[in-house]
Amino acid sequence: MSAQIIDGKKIAAKIRQDLTLKIKQLQKDHNLTPGLAVVIIGEDPASQVYVRNKRNACEETGIKSVGYDLPESTSQKDLLELINKLNEDDDIDGILVQFPVPDHIDTETVIEAIRPDKDVDGFHPYNIGRLAVRMPALRSCTPYGVMKLLESTGETFHGKEALIVGASNHVGRPMALELLLAGCTVSISHRFTRDLEAWVRRSEIIVVAAGKPGLVKGEWIRPGATVIDIGINRTDKGKLVGDVDFESARQNAAWITPVPGGVGPMTVATLMLNTIEAATSRRNIKP
Ligand code: NAD
Repeated sequence: MSAQIIDGKKIAAKIRQDLTLKIKQLQKDHNLTPGLAVVIIGEDPASQVYVRNKRNACEETGIKSVGYDLPESTSQKDLLELINKLNEDDDIDGILVQFPVPDHIDTETVIEAIRPDKDVDGFHPYNIGRLAVRMPALRSCTPYGVMKLLESTGETFHGKEALIVGASNHVGRPMALELLLAGCTVSISHRFTRDLEAWVRRSEIIVVAAGKPGLVKGEWIRPGATVIDIGINRTDKGKLVGDVDFESARQNAAWITPVPGGVGPMTVATLMLNTIEAATSRRNIKP
């Protein structure tokens, strides 16, 4: 068997196209152009690329993006002051702080400083909590994008056994909550998991976000499984690869995402989706 490829690039482009029309409608009916503040601290090259992609996607869809490129030396106090200002700014519907932030800034303090209804990354404990109790508001972008990829296959996920490899606050954990909400029986593995192979072998849906190239071997994949690879790793030769051994995994899987061109573009598309959701729900506009 050779798996069908889940084309994240194509699915994300369609979402952005739909959102472009939606924004035109919002401008016409409500004189509303959603605004996204994009804050980056320091010069991390990967972060610079991610921010550029997000700003380009805003421009393409008609979201007004306002950039704050702050020096590495920015203090936590100054960053929190900026976030407070953006929280109060009625023209700003979403606030995105690109992570990682420099070591002298505490990530959780920054996340909690953002107003939950402007938390378009969906990282705030309020938004994670809403997802946990089946009342999602702004959903974490990457897991939300993965759900859209899974939906695109047309498969039913109710009752299926799903495994998440990786348990970070912003990817693995909200991913588990999304799959639980979708009716899967969910297991989460992490760096202390014994016998990862056995967990992978029994699972019908495997979502991998560990940041370890080649961690999941193709021969572990149960025939007919759906494999979503969130990992992004750069090899010594500069090639981007995921956490799953793609070539061997596609021999067993029914569906699989490539890296690049799988989950990555979806994270940007769901950020746009969240920004529009934040802009409309804050003003009580029905979508
Ligand atoms: P992280 O370092 O915060 O978390 C990694 C998780 O993997 C941890 O929970 C750790 O316990 C687990 N892990 C490590 N080794 C393991 C092992 N041998 N078995 C099982 N679990 C193991 O990383 P993160 O920020 O969650 O990101 C994970 C990967 O996803 C990275 O490659 C990152 O670049 C990528 N990522 C991609 C997107 C996207 O849009 N495609 C978005 C976010 C993150």
